Amino acid sequence: MKHLLFLKNKMILKYFPELNGLDKITMESTALKLMEEAGELSQVISKFRGLNGEKVDMSEKEIIEKMVSELLDVMQVCATMTYILEREYSINIEEKLQDHLDKLKRKGYVK
Ligand SMILES: [Mg+2]
Repeated sequence: MKHLLFLKNKMILKYFPELNGLDKITMESTALKLMEEAGELSQVISKFRGLNGEKVDMSEKEIIEKMVSELLDVMQVCATMTYILEREYSINIEEKLQDHLDKLKRKGYVK
């Protein structure tokens, strides 16, 4: 099974670090930021794929690069939300991630 290794001391901290000034960022502002970044990803997929009828002036490669960039922005915000949940609400994210993986296995989405 191929999946993101989302353990704190591995991928998440290496590629999705805790941002400076995280203590000033709230769950609410982060939730809004997630919507903003999801919107940017959605824009790339719809606008640059020509789904809104506009002429597309980006190459396939540029579109995919932009899509990946926006997807990583979404993932960074998700990581930030996990840091806030840990900090503010003492949630054990590694435990929750294992629960999530167990759920996916139970439902048959992964082996
Ligand atoms: Mg973005």
